[in-house]
Amino acid sequence: MNIYGMSPRKLRDYFNYIGENSAKAAIIYDGIYRRGVIDFAEFGFAERIIERLRADFDFALPKIVEKRECEDAAKLLLELSDGEFVETVLMRQAFGNCICVSTQVGCNMGCKFCQSGMLKKRRDLTAAEITGQALAIAKAFNCKIDGVSVMGIGEPLDNLEAVADFCELVTEDKGLAVGRRHVTVSTCGLAPKIREFAELPRPCNLAISLHAPDDGLRSALMPINKAYPIADVMSAAEYFSEKTHRRVTLEYIMLDGVNDTPDHARRLAELIGKRDFYVNLIPYNSTDSSYKKSSPETVSAFCGVLKDNGVIATKRREFGADLNAACGQLRADRLR
Ligand code: SF4
Repeated sequence: MNIYGMSPRKLRDYFNYIGENSAKAAIIYDGIYRRGVIDFAEFGFAERIIERLRADFDFALPKIVEKRECEDAAKLLLELSDGEFVETVLMRQAFGNCICVSTQVGCNMGCKFCQSGMLKKRRDLTAAEITGQALAIAKAFNCKIDGVSVMGIGEPLDNLEAVADFCELVTEDKGLAVGRRHVTVSTCGLAPKIREFAELPRPCNLAISLHAPDDGLRSALMPINKAYPIADVMSAAEYFSEKTHRRVTLEYIMLDGVNDTPDHARRLAELIGKRDFYVNLIPYNSTDSSYKKSSPETVSAFCGVLKDNGVIATKRREFGADLNAACGQLRADRLR
């Protein structure tokens, strides 16, 4: 097993299982994540425990094979132990360093505007491989991580157990200690999984990729909408919000001439109604698809209509366009 995949709960269970005091889990967390320890001999445990830990765990991390950096963003292409590749992005925001991690190798959800959706899922990432991305960024750029977006390559809720372990691990005080309000998990709208996510002991924020105010357009952009139409997704989001009291963000990627007119904005505001959801307007990062990004004027007008209709909306700043920062572009380049 890989030690970086052990959530605090799983590590405590492990110590109980081997008949040792589960408080040792906190000592390991502190050593690994605060002091960068990579040898079990450095925790001050008895020799028999060190031997058992060495037999059961390794400290393997993904290998950095490509590193790109510009003023406000950076990106790593990482090679996993089986030769697969994933991407991780660092965005330098006003509040600190936010990373965007991948959760699968490829993705089966097939969103039409997405580079990752063009490369089918080959496998889920383990919790260790998701944590490994955070550690690789921290090491490569010598930085502390202040926020995490689980919205890189893959559909996080299609790999819920590993993502739940990662959320627990990354928010652990003795671990990477990222505040829960700075960790957001994004889904294309797997309604039953949203409800499961709401039941987790430590849920983080939820973002839902909506991208259209009606089922016809959403199904054309996102095939998953045929399985879980907007009404199901909104109802699951409401459940999440009531159950966890955590923020729900609706992500809306602005596609020129497709979903970006004032009428789309009015219908989006109607759909949200009185719900306390927040809209994040995302500039499109061009990929090999035929979609183009909306102009800044169009995005501002769209945002204005939402605000006039009582919806809290923000425009996401564009990060790292020079880096091929769109989800999946670096990996696609490498596979080509
Ligand atoms: S947008 Fe997300 S869910 Fe959709 S294909 Fe891309 S990675 Fe998958």
